[in-house]
This record gives sequence, C-alpha cells and structure tokens, in this order.
Amino acid sequence: MAASASPEAAAPRGAMTPVPHRVVSRVQETADTWTLELEPLGDPDAQQVRPRAGQFDMLHAFGVGEVPISTSGDHDGDGPLTHTIRAVGAVSRALCALEPGSFVGVRGPFGTEWPLADVSGDLVVVAGGIGLAPLRPAIRHALERRAEYGAVSVLVGARTPQDLLFVDELERWRARLDAEVDVAVDAAAAGWHGRVGLVTTLIPGAVVDPGKASAFVCGPEVMMTFVVRALLERGLALERIWVSMERNMRCAVGHCGHCQLGPTLICRDGAVFPAGAMQRLMEVREL
Ligand SMILES: Cc1cc2nc3c(=O)[nH]c(=O)nc-3n(C[C@H](O)[C@H](O)[C@H](O)COP(=O)(O)OP(=O)(O)OC[C@H]3O[C@@H](n4cnc5c(N)ncnc54)[C@H](O)[C@@H]3O)c2cc1C
Repeated sequence: MAASASPEAAAPRGAMTPVPHRVVSRVQETADTWTLELEPLGDPDAQQVRPRAGQFDMLHAFGVGEVPISTSGDHDGDGPLTHTIRAVGAVSRALCALEPGSFVGVRGPFGTEWPLADVSGDLVVVAGGIGLAPLRPAIRHALERRAEYGAVSVLVGARTPQDLLFVDELERWRARLDAEVDVAVDAAAAGWHGRVGLVTTLIPGAVVDPGKASAFVCGPEVMMTFVVRALLERGLALERIWVSMERNMRCAVGHCGHCQLGPTLICRDGAVFPAGAMQRLMEVREL
C-alpha cells in the first residue's frame, strides 16, 4: 500500500520560487530546537494548500540557503504554517534564529503523507528525537478522531529528558485514558523517573494487537532500522509499517537527483514510504 498524494498534486505556494512568509511566533522546544509559525505576506488567502501530515515544505533562509522541514502542525483549518526545526548546520541554525517579524521563503508542500486514511485498526507511532515533529500531526489526527482507530500507542525516544519535544503536549496525551504514551531516554540524571533505554525496548509492551496494527516511524535511520525489526518481531506485517526518510535534498521536485536512494528519489516518491520499500536500502550504509 503506497502513501498517498503525489508531489505533482500539491505545490501551489510555489514549486520553485519561494513565497515570502513572516515569522509570527518562535517557541524554543529544547536547547537546539525551535518551532516557528509562519504566515504569508499580504493576503492570507494566498496560502491555499497546507501541508498534510507527513508532508514537508522547503524553508528558505534568505542569504543562507534552503532546507526541507516537515509540517509539525495541523493541516485542517487556516492557522499559520508550523515547522519544528533542529539547529544542526548553517541553514537550520539561521531558521531557528529568526525572530517574530522576520521573513522566510516557503516552497511546497511536497511529498507523501502518513496514510491515515488507510489505517482503521490499531496504530503504533514510534518517534526518535526530532522525528516526533513530523509525526505530531498524525498523532493529533488520530487522537482527535479517536473512534476511527483501535488502540493507539505513541512511543517516544530521546537522548536525554532535556531533548524531549512538546513536553506539555506529551503530558496531555499521556493523561488521556484512550491512548498509551510511553517515553524512554537513552541517558538520564537523577530525578528522571521514566524509562531509560532505547525506544525499541518499548515495542514489546505496546498495547496494540500486532495482527491488526499499523505503524508510523520517524527518527534517525539507524533507529528506524531497529524499530522496523522490532515491530516485525512483535508480529506486525511489513506492509503495514511506514517510515519517513529525512535524507537531505535540494530541489524537492525530482529534478536534481540529490536525494536519490537506490531506485527512488526521496523528494518525489517519499519522504513517507512503506517500510518494505526502504528496508534493504536503509541497511546499506553507503547509499
Ligand atoms: C523530508 C525531510 C523532512 C525533514 N523534516 C525536518 C524537520 O521537521 N525538522 C528538522 O529539524 N529537520 C528536518 N529535516 C532535516 C533537515 O532538512 C536538515 O537538518 C537540514 O537540511 C540541515 O541543513 P543545514 O544546512 O542546517 O545543515 P548541514 O550543514 O547541511 O548539515 C549539518 C549536519 O546535519 C546533517 N544533516 C544534514 N541534513 C540532514 C538530514 N536530512 N538528516 C539528518 N542529518 C542531516 C549533516 O550530515 C551534518 O552533520 C528533514 C529532512 C527531510 C529530507
């Protein structure tokens, strides 16, 4: 089952030319990660198509460069675009430093979606680090339409408690009686009362029925490789597991070949892929 929405179907905000937007809010999530809300300059109606859960925009820091960043907000409604960005290099650092009122260019939306419409049974969402940002819209969607799903399990891994994203929202999700939220950190100092270990250690205990569960996974590639293996060991079917491949890219429209991975272009065919299409490729380090 392929993820839906072809890249050609959606790029009205400018497939190649960045459309100027203004930063309307900037929230620091962790020491190196910020969430920006963006609105188009001028007529807000100019922003007609919003990224759907799993899709990404190319964000352009003027004078520095452009990078792909997934939507971390809701695709319903007409609020600002929301992107959560980890500062790792020149462009992401420049974006994270933008104060409200600053300008940013936006191309998109691009890419495939988390296949929420194809999931009707149980859902397990597994996030590692910044991978929770691209998954947040899918989690919100499932929790807002709770009756459409079976058991919902959200498993989150981070390096330390200080690296956890959206802590208040995680607590609100955790307080619900109709969903399981479990968090593990790789390392913690005294005072952390949660689990310590890799996110894969949460999979055997997840409340879902593997026979009717689907899984969405996003995080570093090595984490996704081990998570997919653990989900298979738990009994989930490979064709019901999806991963988001956040490899670097340039054009986002399938022309430059920068994001080629084996026979696929991540920007054109992903970034959300059925895990079966990526499993072997993810395990070959040189690709
Ligand atoms: C479809 C897609 C969606 C993404 N969504 C998000 C998101 O929601 N939030 C977010 O913070 N980041 C996201 N990324 C990653 C983000 O695009 C990169 O961090 C960014 O391109 C780095 O550019 P830079 O110029 O800041 O750093 P660079 O100087 O290019 O790189 C700095 C360091 O980061 C590493 N790096 C660069 N690109 C990536 C990458 N794609 N994945 C992992 N490591 C990388 C480099 O190897 C280097 O070590 C996404 C990437 C893709 C392809």
